[in-house]
Amino acid sequence: MKINAVKGFRDVLPGETEVWSRLEEAARRLLIGYGYAEIRVPAVERRELFARAAGETTDIVEKQMYTFDDVDGTSLTLRPEGTASVVRAYIENGLHGREPVSKLFYLGAMFRRERPQKGRFRQFHQIGAEVLGREDPLVDAELLVLLAEYFAALGLATARIEINSLGCAACRPAYREELRRYAEARKQTLCADCNRRIERNPLRVLDCKLDAERTLDAPVMVDFLCAACGEHFRTVRALLAAESVAVTLNPRMVRGLDYYCRTAFEIVAEGLGAQNAIGGGGRYDGLVASLGGPSVPGVGFALGVERLVLALRVPEAAAPFDVFVAPLGDPAEARAFRLARELRREGLRLEIEPGRKSLKSHLRRADKLGAAFVLIVGDEELSRGTVVIRDMRGQRQLEAPLDAPSIVRAVRRAQ
Ligand code: AMP
Repeated sequence: MKINAVKGFRDVLPGETEVWSRLEEAARRLLIGYGYAEIRVPAVERRELFARAAGETTDIVEKQMYTFDDVDGTSLTLRPEGTASVVRAYIENGLHGREPVSKLFYLGAMFRRERPQKGRFRQFHQIGAEVLGREDPLVDAELLVLLAEYFAALGLATARIEINSLGCAACRPAYREELRRYAEARKQTLCADCNRRIERNPLRVLDCKLDAERTLDAPVMVDFLCAACGEHFRTVRALLAAESVAVTLNPRMVRGLDYYCRTAFEIVAEGLGAQNAIGGGGRYDGLVASLGGPSVPGVGFALGVERLVLALRVPEAAAPFDVFVAPLGDPAEARAFRLARELRREGLRLEIEPGRKSLKSHLRRADKLGAAFVLIVGDEELSRGTVVIRDMRGQRQLEAPLDAPSIVRAVRRAQ
């Protein structure tokens, strides 16, 4: 019986993996340039980490987590997001004691049991970054500048950044109450999910796609910000404006998780259909303390790699080969096999095929692979201690001594 991949879990095949590599390498380069260091955290954590970090009443924790009991009864969860794990690692390893600010980035698979559709999978990948230890609006602005630089580096012209402020423990409760009252008064017209949200998590009413039209006049957080949050938000936006980083205010954006405060943002891109968010993030000043760490502020983002790939829509050509080695016959094959190893050691990207093929079929294969040069290793050349180097573009041939350094020199000269 044929065994297929699990629903919502997909293979990323050659042709697409090249795009992934380019995305990941560009991200690494940029993040390292901005002072971030990579952190690798486990794919499995205790369930309570996510329940406490994201909030019991969030969609992720309520409906989407892959949770199972280990044999000793511990409730474990495949991580649905990266921030909770990074903060757990930050606290557990005492990173706050090492330096006043920790700038960390990660790349990795996340798991959410959502209904699969275009751009939505049950295993997906994120590139994320977190800054722990700085409350300053400059840090929020710097994150968004970094993201704008990243999209520019990728040539992703359609990415749009939306921004909002979610206030803080001082100003959000009053807003939350105002919104709760607003939703309560319209209970009959709102969907079943929103009815549940009214008491438990009224902010999420603004997130509801079904009720969006019905709540257009709902109160919004930016009108309720305390002086400190208002000033923070103004400064973030002024810094971005000064850097000509375009951001759109979206006063209805609430983000899915409870831990966000102050700056929140989402990045959307054209042409992705319903799942048009390619990333999101924001500030989470209370999270480290709520997970048992010191009172340290934080801010971060996560980008969805699958959606970035979809938004880019450029198939990447596989890297061409420098050299194709074509042995003609058995004795030549063994010698060519060793030569191939030596040439690869010299840094050439090289392919070799078995010797029992005609020169014509070797050349066809070399052409298909886009090899720039073919090394023809035949018995005759072998007895002379040479190889023939055929330039596939110029259609020229020359003979070179059968040793790796001379061949590399000849190839480099001809390139
Ligand atoms: P979130 O923290 O939910 O805003 O996720 C951050 C980013 O991860 C989103 O903007 C998406 O690009 C990506 N993402 C989240 N969930 C999925 C999913 N189920 N499949 C693919 N990408 C996802």
